[in-house]
Amino acid sequence: MLDFVQLGWEAETVGELDHRKLKAPHVKLRAATPGATGDIVYSVDLRINEPNSVFLSSTEMHSFEHFLLWGFQKYLPQNFISIGLMGCQTGFYLILFNEGRAGVIRDTYEAILKDVLVASEVPYANIAQCGNYKNHSLEMAQALARRILGAKTNWNKIV
Ligand SMILES: [Zn+2]
Repeated sequence: MLDFVQLGWEAETVGELDHRKLKAPHVKLRAATPGATGDIVYSVDLRINEPNSVFLSSTEMHSFEHFLLWGFQKYLPQNFISIGLMGCQTGFYLILFNEGRAGVIRDTYEAILKDVLVASEVPYANIAQCGNYKNHSLEMAQALARRILGAKTNWNKIV
C-alpha cells in the first residue's frame, strides 16, 4: 500500500471524488498504479475550472496542452508519459512514471506556468507537429497561466 501522505497528498483526496464538491484550480493525485517490478504510474488531475461552471475553449485548451507537453518533457524527461485533455473542458490529465511527489509535481507545474508567461510562441504550433496548427493563441495560454499561478496557494485545496 502506497503512503500517499508521505508523497505529500492528503489521503482522502486521492481517487475519484464527487465532482460537485471539487474546487479549482487544483493539482490532485487520482491514481497510483504499481507494476510487477515496483515501478509506479501516477495519474494526476490538473483541474483548472470547477466542474459544470465555466469551460475552457478549444483554443485555450489546445495551446495550453502544447505548453504542458513541452514543459513536463523538459523538466521531468525521465518521468513524463503523457498529458491529455479532460473532455469536459475543465482540465488536463497528467501521467508520470515513478514520480508521484506532490511537491515536485506542483513545483514543476509552477515552473512551466512561469515559462508560459515569458514565451514568445506556442510550442509545436506548426503544420509538421500539430493536427490543427492554426487553432492556437499565445495570449489565451498566458492569461490562463497567469490565473492558475495567481491561485497557487489553493492548488492543494481539492474539496
Ligand atoms: Zn496541436
